[in-house]
Amino acid sequence: MASNDGGSTALRTHRCGEVNAALVGETVSVAGWAARIRNLGGVVFVDLRDRYGELQIVCEDGQPLEAAGGFKLESVLRFTGEVRRRPEGMVNPDKATGEVELVARTAEVLNGCAPLPFQLDQADRAQEELRLKYRYIHLRRPDMLRNLEIRHRAAMAARRYLSDRGFLEVETPLLIRTTPEGARDYVVPSRIHHGQFYALPQSPQLYKQILMAGGVDRYFQLARCLRDEDLRKDRQPEHTQIDLEMSFVGEDDVYTVVEEMMRSVFAETIGLDLPTPFPRINYDEAMDLYGSDKPDLRFGHPMHTVDDLVPGCGFKVFEDALAGGGTVRCLCAPQLASWSRKQVDALEQVAKKNGAFGLARTKVTADGVDTGIGKFLGEDFTAGVSARTGAREGDLLLFVAGEKEMARRALGAVRLAVAEQAGWIPEGTWALAWVRNFPLFERDDQGGWTACHHMFTQPRPEDLAGLEADPGAARAQLYDLVCNGVELGSGSIRIHQRELQERVFRIVGMDKDEYMAKFGFFLDALGYGAPPHGGIALGLDRIVMLLTGSPSLREVIAFPKTTLAASPLDGSPGPISGQQLQELNLAIIPAAEGDERGDGGS
Ligand code: ASP
Repeated sequence: MASNDGGSTALRTHRCGEVNAALVGETVSVAGWAARIRNLGGVVFVDLRDRYGELQIVCEDGQPLEAAGGFKLESVLRFTGEVRRRPEGMVNPDKATGEVELVARTAEVLNGCAPLPFQLDQADRAQEELRLKYRYIHLRRPDMLRNLEIRHRAAMAARRYLSDRGFLEVETPLLIRTTPEGARDYVVPSRIHHGQFYALPQSPQLYKQILMAGGVDRYFQLARCLRDEDLRKDRQPEHTQIDLEMSFVGEDDVYTVVEEMMRSVFAETIGLDLPTPFPRINYDEAMDLYGSDKPDLRFGHPMHTVDDLVPGCGFKVFEDALAGGGTVRCLCAPQLASWSRKQVDALEQVAKKNGAFGLARTKVTADGVDTGIGKFLGEDFTAGVSARTGAREGDLLLFVAGEKEMARRALGAVRLAVAEQAGWIPEGTWALAWVRNFPLFERDDQGGWTACHHMFTQPRPEDLAGLEADPGAARAQLYDLVCNGVELGSGSIRIHQRELQERVFRIVGMDKDEYMAKFGFFLDALGYGAPPHGGIALGLDRIVMLLTGSPSLREVIAFPKTTLAASPLDGSPGPISGQQLQELNLAIIPAAEGDERGDGGS
């Protein structure tokens, strides 16, 4: 990332990382942080680090050597001196500055540094809480700065691509009416309107649709979205979406724009030439073959249905599953018959965690299929399974039986676990794909219907007539972009007709009073000539996490929250003053004993 723009400033002539052999013999000034200090008695070496790299400084006599006695790790130092070639044998070919060193003529401490809460190169071992409290120290690490740089480049690539194609970046409000989109809202009390609250947007969904009603035609925004969710998993209360919406489009139009935009993002961040178009797979097929609506397509080994082979197969568990309206799914793991019982038992735990009763297994040996459940299985069944899965001697066969949704998900999870342990996933590969034709509705916990994605998704035209009669059968014009088994974003062609939108509200259990109170303003916008439109939102944080190979979202967000939605850096959330409460007409009810939320555990 060498560039001379801004390299020379009031306090430096060069950036540390850009001092190289071309400058040998010249006098330069550099400034940065003391990454390492080696005091060898008559000479002190300092590795001085800035965002652009590290430069070896030698303090071997005079004022610099005297000053060096007071240098502290991570203090901010400035040196002026001559660039010289490193002695033979001392060259470090791994560093851009590795051929040279700066012999200091003057040394200056621009700012000291208190004793460090953790060493930068051991930050991984420090407690997360500590790393986040002293985030600025952690951010000085080259890998963290690189993450921010890749994030910036990804955002710029998306912006540039969309802007060049006529998309207008429009900011939608942060203080909005509470319009739940599936998660819990963050709410903000109004001072002026007693007892009234704003919500922070879970996404700009309604506003981008209203922009289409306003004739904007092509909108985008790098939008902050706020969701008050339980953060058990790798989630963050605020995330950033590359959010876009287009008028007069069908699914293919959205795919093309997103595919080309992702090409730009990959090219401008990791220099990868992403092949397009991305494969498209139907939701049902993804579930049948991979047991997931975000299939990892970097490797094959799909699952198989063996239902037609089950009658008379000899194994009662399978026969009962089928008789009970369920299914039997099989995964063939080539050449894994040698896996120990313990290894396969661990896979069974994965299946059980996903709701399965167990994981039936057998091995294909020279004598046929005679281990595990093999002893119960009839020859027709085993021959049928072998023909279907291509199983050969040395392969391990795994089965989950039971209710269809559970069986697919459980064996899908087993497939991923096997892939990880058996090294099925090729390093450095990228498998982007569209998953489409999702159901429009799914059952909620109370047995009612809820939207699979959100309530603004257009059903397929052929499902419109029977929507109320059989909501579960309707398919949506809904698509997800997935990459390497991770969902990068969701979008849909939207409902633009008021009447249809009202029907969908009713199917998910809202009566007119409720939906008019919550969404009346939005229904009005549809009723006043909203054009057909569709769009998508992609999670920028997730994209950057994949591009940088980071293990967690927290590594690619400058100031993330903990899993308890707190920020150790600034101590938020925190109390507000009595006066602020009074102005808002709010009173705090003390937390009940045993209320886990209490003070957030901080
Ligand atoms: N607003 C949706 C979401 O946040 C994305 C979309 O449908 O465009 O998931």
